[in-house]
Amino acid sequence: MSRVYNFSAGPAVLPEEVLKEAANEMLDYQGTGMSVMEMSHRSKIFEGILNEAEQDFRDLLKIPDNYKVLFLQGGAHLQFAMVPMNLMKNRVADYIVTGQWAKKAFKEAAIYGKANKIASSEDETFSYIPDCSDLPVSSDADYVYICENNTIYGTKFHKLPNTKGKILVSDVSSCFLSEPMDVTQYGLVYGGVQKNIGPAGMVIAIIREDLITEDTLPGTPTYMKYKIHAEANSLYNTPNAYCIYICGKVFKWIKNMGGLEAMKARNEKKAAILYDFLDSSQLFKGTVRKEDRSLMNVPFVTGSQEMDAKFVKEATKSGLVNLKGHRSVGGMRASIYNAMPLEGVKALVEFMKKFEEENR
Ligand SMILES: *Cc1c(COP(=O)(O)O)cnc(C)c1O
Repeated sequence: MSRVYNFSAGPAVLPEEVLKEAANEMLDYQGTGMSVMEMSHRSKIFEGILNEAEQDFRDLLKIPDNYKVLFLQGGAHLQFAMVPMNLMKNRVADYIVTGQWAKKAFKEAAIYGKANKIASSEDETFSYIPDCSDLPVSSDADYVYICENNTIYGTKFHKLPNTKGKILVSDVSSCFLSEPMDVTQYGLVYGGVQKNIGPAGMVIAIIREDLITEDTLPGTPTYMKYKIHAEANSLYNTPNAYCIYICGKVFKWIKNMGGLEAMKARNEKKAAILYDFLDSSQLFKGTVRKEDRSLMNVPFVTGSQEMDAKFVKEATKSGLVNLKGHRSVGGMRASIYNAMPLEGVKALVEFMKKFEEENR
């Protein structure tokens, strides 16, 4: 067996300990004689897995009792529609567009009502986070929407926007559980788990109880009402049971690592190694404004497409894989999520130094 350092943006690297545990339990989960994949989602044993996962998740983020945690399917993309269908009571919402994902969410919301783009960084290829301290928030807006960590461009909101009292909705797919977060600042937070938490196929939503209402837009499918899922404790229909089980293991792994404060320190250390090198390199350059840099996704370029391609190819041969940048940015991107070990980032930087010497 030989593992690579996997810098994929998602689905992405998972903790080896978690994969090994899951492998050990594959044929016989705790004496049940079956895999978690083969169990009824209504069984006592699965109920235990689900409740424990939710409790650990709540502990990690210190989620107050007036917020529900929902395990939902359909990916972040379904949330682009579920958010307006459930929250657009006045049919007005303000969007801050800082990348492709926010843009997609904005376009989806426009199907259901008046979606206002109140700020954008598209003028400079989404390489920064706009000043959001005094935006023209609409007086009748039902919410203000952000994508907190921009997976493709490598920027992050290090300070939340001033929503002038409006509910904040945030897509945290690529920074979920990477550092502590004050849930009370938001009405709704959601993220696809395949970036920083678990396997693909699920979203975790944290939603303030008063926002879970019967009052959804006319025509909202039953399945797309938060209320249905909240009342059924995420068991309205068959959930992504195996994904919940793996996510539960990842929550335990994070707890064992010392929780989100420890995760943050570890992520800052890893990111600093890479960014410090980028700042000193003659060949490689980071692509985003320094103060807006993400701890999770680090895009960089050499300035030459041929050189970029050569780098990606040679890195792959050395066991550093999935470094090709998103098709809309080009160059390279190293996603260094929670589960990427420090050694992986060090190996990448060593490789970049060697590549730079050889290609001066
Ligand atoms: C990956 C990603 C998405 C899309 O996720 P799907 O689960 O494929 O729908 C949305 N938002 C962000 C921030 C992402 O990183």
